[in-house]
Amino acid sequence: MSVRVRIAPSPTGNLHIGTARTAVFNWLFARHQGGKFILRIEDTDLERSQPEFTQNILDGLTWLGLTWDEGPFFQSDRMDLYAQNIQALLDKGLAYRAYDTPEELEAMREAQKARHEAPRYDNRHRNLTPEQQAAFEAEGRKAVIRFKIDDDREISWIDLVRGTVTWKGRDLGGDIVISRAADTHGIGQPLYNFVVVVDDIEMQISHVIRGEDHIGNTPKQILLYEALGATVPEFGHTPLILNQAGQKLSKRDGVTSISDFKQMGYTPEGITNYMTLLGWSPPEPMTEIFTLAEAAQQFGFDRVNKAGAKFDWDKLNWLNGQYLHSMPVEHITDTLIPYWRDANYPFDETRDRNWLEQIAALVAPSLSRLDEAVPMTRYLFMPLTFTEEAKAHLQQDGSATALKAILAATDPDTQLTEDAIQTVIKQVVKEQNLKKGLVMKSLRASLTGALQGPDLVQSWLLLNQKGMDRDRFEQAIAISAS
Ligand code: GLU
Repeated sequence: MSVRVRIAPSPTGNLHIGTARTAVFNWLFARHQGGKFILRIEDTDLERSQPEFTQNILDGLTWLGLTWDEGPFFQSDRMDLYAQNIQALLDKGLAYRAYDTPEELEAMREAQKARHEAPRYDNRHRNLTPEQQAAFEAEGRKAVIRFKIDDDREISWIDLVRGTVTWKGRDLGGDIVISRAADTHGIGQPLYNFVVVVDDIEMQISHVIRGEDHIGNTPKQILLYEALGATVPEFGHTPLILNQAGQKLSKRDGVTSISDFKQMGYTPEGITNYMTLLGWSPPEPMTEIFTLAEAAQQFGFDRVNKAGAKFDWDKLNWLNGQYLHSMPVEHITDTLIPYWRDANYPFDETRDRNWLEQIAALVAPSLSRLDEAVPMTRYLFMPLTFTEEAKAHLQQDGSATALKAILAATDPDTQLTEDAIQTVIKQVVKEQNLKKGLVMKSLRASLTGALQGPDLVQSWLLLNQKGMDRDRFEQAIAISAS
């Protein structure tokens, strides 16, 4: 049997990290098995589905490198197929029209509550006579289509992650609605549990791999496979991503969509590596740092955890940092340029390329996210603002002397080199009889406006290349005197 898996996001929001992680597991499994990974957009909820969310999902999967082999298929293009299959179930007597009004359903639930029973549909319209149906229709009632669930059935499957899972038919809440508000002869709006089965059958999906939140849908879907006369695929329910409090990660936890992670400066490599580790552990001796292709060689459900996976920002930042630190300088420069551009830093991408590459090389080793480069490099692009600490330092004895001596010892018309800088510093320390620490701190305060930051000599070189260093010394000397 050839392996065919799918990811089936609903375009009712941006690509969520949970969906993306499910996509990762599907992708890894497909690639490990030499199978196919299919993309299906589940846009049957017409009110909540938006084209911009579809675009966000396609862009997000592409950015992550989760290439799909077939699709995207859109459920909204496939309504005829669903209608045919609903009709087939009606014809076989496995589904029926139910005419209950919302008020009647509510009253039924209230009565169940009063009896301390779990809410369920009591299947009251399962065996309506044609006369009863006609009477409801004459009243102008709209029908939903319900699929019959046998209370006495036991439904079991061997889950790829959880082993044997068993449900009782009676726990499924009675006959389920598979299509909403059908008019008298049409089939209305088919719903998730039904369309997903029709699609998975038609797309010959061999393994349904999805989040654990869908586990309660699986027994209903298995019954639908049987009713439609199809082979039941294998199922694997992957653990949910949890926040630090152990609850399902949600919008309330802040960033949850892949486009937000991208905006914050995570790399696709860092994110996919981290998502893979959220629930899967690589076999020894594989390290925790791997590409999707490397993980695909080893991936199997035997190493996927049952327990929910806690989202750990520190670990993600650490992993992302590993990718940023090892990125070739051209690549990290290209990746940082949009951040600098968005911050409105002035530069010319072509003319300043070499200068920008030097900046990227300077800060890359201390980044864990790309957006951190914006405040970190601000002093190289923009007029300085001085921290209180830096100002206080500049007002100390010796600071102005050091800076004046530096101005005197450097030639405005000669570009500095690393050696020249080291020589100037030594000379000023010696001639002015100052402590080296004071000279260095004065240089840092005047060139960067702060007492901490990237390498000082490199920073000076970069500012010197742009002719921005001497004015800063003058400005700092003025602060010293104030
Ligand atoms: N549209 C569903 C979701 O986004 C798909 C679930 C499934 O894979 O069956 O959760």
